[in-house]
Amino acid sequence: MTLTQPGILYVVATPIGNLDDMSPRAVSILKSVALIAAEDTRHAQRLLQHYQIATPATACHDHNETHKVQQLIEHLQSGKSLALISDAGTPLISDPGFRLVRAAQEAMIKVVPIPGACAAITALSASGLPSDRFRFEGFLAAKSTARRQQLESVRQERATLIFYEAPHRILDCLGDMVAIFGPEREACLARELTKTFETIRKATLAELLYFVNTDPNQQKGEIVLVVAGATGDEDKGDHAKVDAVLLRLLEDLPVKKAAQLAAELYGYKKNELYQRALDLKK
Ligand code: SAM
Repeated sequence: MTLTQPGILYVVATPIGNLDDMSPRAVSILKSVALIAAEDTRHAQRLLQHYQIATPATACHDHNETHKVQQLIEHLQSGKSLALISDAGTPLISDPGFRLVRAAQEAMIKVVPIPGACAAITALSASGLPSDRFRFEGFLAAKSTARRQQLESVRQERATLIFYEAPHRILDCLGDMVAIFGPEREACLARELTKTFETIRKATLAELLYFVNTDPNQQKGEIVLVVAGATGDEDKGDHAKVDAVLLRLLEDLPVKKAAQLAAELYGYKKNELYQRALDLKK
């Protein structure tokens, strides 16, 4: 009995706008595989025709991934290779493919990534914001209440934050960011990356809100928002809140302990609040 060696699943990144960003390796893999699983086969044709890639393509998207996975795994198990691509950028990054990669691993099928463009990383690289630590949040919720809750959950995050946002929601989203992160937080709007109307604008959130509000062109196209992480000083400005908490603590605790607890809560050094607690006590 001869065992068929399974094919390889290639996870291939494609450009996010400028077709020249396709790597030679990605082109040669797409030419050599037996089948391409594309998020949208019609959309993929533009890229495939540009690079004269004649490999047949089949659709694998959010709505059919669950049942399509089994079919694609059988294809791989029959010894034929497969390349997964999405409409743009790196598959699985706010795009389908996770179930397929997982199923391939479980079936002992080799998964090989072919790296290339990713809008989040492209935006971060030119944002001028700290890139040593970052947190990719993908798309925010469409409704403001849920979006604000999501933003609140990362308000204290020290790492740089990266969000994808739809153009028709960018104004509301920036408004919510100003409300939750504060108007002074630095951010970068990265729009239409690698395309003709590429815009990369770093400013405070309040300035970005003004910029987008006063120029309707900024409310079009594809957008990444990169937002500076928290510094730990965010709550420091709210003196009235700190005083109110200190006063309440002073009702039950000695000055030193009250200052220490309030300092922990609001990110101050203990001795920064000690004198304030003494003054309030008087
Ligand atoms: N897999 C893709 C990647 O690697 O970046 C992301 C796919 S996700 C469905 C599409 C979102 O990515 C867009 O709504 C936008 O937020 C961002 N995006 C994609 N291309 C972009 C571009 N050229 N400029 C700015 N943002 C882009």
